[in-house]
Amino acid sequence: MKIVVLKFGGTSVGTTKKIKKIAEIIADYKKKNYKVIVISSAMSGVTNELIKKSCEISDNFSDSEYDVLVSSGEQIACSLIAGRLIHKGYKSRSWLSWQVPITTLGEHKNSRINQINKNNIIKYLRKGGIPIITGFQGVNNENRITTIGRGGSDASAIMVAKFFKADRCIIYTDVEGVYTTDPNKLKYAKKIKVISYEEMLEMASLGAKVMQPVSIQDARLNRIDIEVKSSFIKKSGTLITKRTNIINNKIITGISSTQNDSKVSLIGVKDKPGVAASIFKPLSKNSINVDMVVQNISANGKETDLTFTIKTEDLNKTKKIIQENKNISYRKLIFERGVSKISIIGVGMITTPGVTFRMFQTLANKKINIQVISTSEIKISVLIDKKSTKKAIIALHKEFKLDKKNEHKTF
Ligand code: ASP
Ligand code: MG
Repeated sequence: MKIVVLKFGGTSVGTTKKIKKIAEIIADYKKKNYKVIVISSAMSGVTNELIKKSCEISDNFSDSEYDVLVSSGEQIACSLIAGRLIHKGYKSRSWLSWQVPITTLGEHKNSRINQINKNNIIKYLRKGGIPIITGFQGVNNENRITTIGRGGSDASAIMVAKFFKADRCIIYTDVEGVYTTDPNKLKYAKKIKVISYEEMLEMASLGAKVMQPVSIQDARLNRIDIEVKSSFIKKSGTLITKRTNIINNKIITGISSTQNDSKVSLIGVKDKPGVAASIFKPLSKNSINVDMVVQNISANGKETDLTFTIKTEDLNKTKKIIQENKNISYRKLIFERGVSKISIIGVGMITTPGVTFRMFQTLANKKINIQVISTSEIKISVLIDKKSTKKAIIALHKEFKLDKKNEHKTF
């Protein structure tokens, strides 16, 4: 059976007019003799509206009722899609996740899909039907409705593709694909034809807008190729696949940047085992996400300097936690708002020497000062003054030839 999984995001089903449009996309796959399984998100804005209502009812709204409430948005979208396909003469019906069933494990609001019963859907596909399955929701072993986290219908689509061994999994959204850098910030940004799971995960600031990161991780673990494309423009999108499927002719695949970061430095920290842990433990307890961390080698063996970055919205909380921390001593505490992390990402850097140097030289030529550096196997990040973000992205985009056509290809 040649199965294709088509997932539509909130904006793709945002109005009845758009739903009519995507019904045509679905019909086109059916005409190509695919067995089509559709996963839909709620119409855009609906989930937020429902959450708002729950907050008006109680500032401590029950988690299990939250799931019943917010999952209803998907039910509406699915029935409208099925209704339109029936109108067009196709055999179609909506499937709520408990009807499939799609079972989940874990707590309410944040469950994970662990099993999908294929029997009913397969029978329906054999009869020529087009099942429209609700994304984002499942049912647990107590027969209660669950949801799998905001943006979760991407993960629903990946899991359906996995269980049904789909030939293709296509994520229809409101952008044309993944870009070399944010196209709203840089007009030279180019659509990436093929990208590896790992790169996509590292490009969080770009990638997260396109797909929910957890679902990319699910796709990676299950080796499922994902195509991301626009519901509104007929053009090929971006293929997210395993590294070995990609012929690289560029060292760097993309450049991402953060906004609203702040830097915290502790100068002259008493250097003894456990200091770093005592600084970061209370931060993690308070759910403050620490990003880049650097610690100097202490020259005299007694004192060291430690710098890390956080989101600016966490700055006041962080200040308070550090100042109240009795387990650490330091000479000076410095906080600085308005820094930005620029990252270049690409599996090509594993096999190409000199990438780090080229990045630093490019920034130096533009007189941009690097404050903190961190690297991973496929990413180099630098912390710079936020004001230089755009200048840095333009320069790096050019240096690594991302402006040029002739992108990565598949075998
Ligand atoms: N409707 C859900 C949300 O807004 C799930 C999704 O869109 O993927 O989070
Ligand atoms: Mg969504």
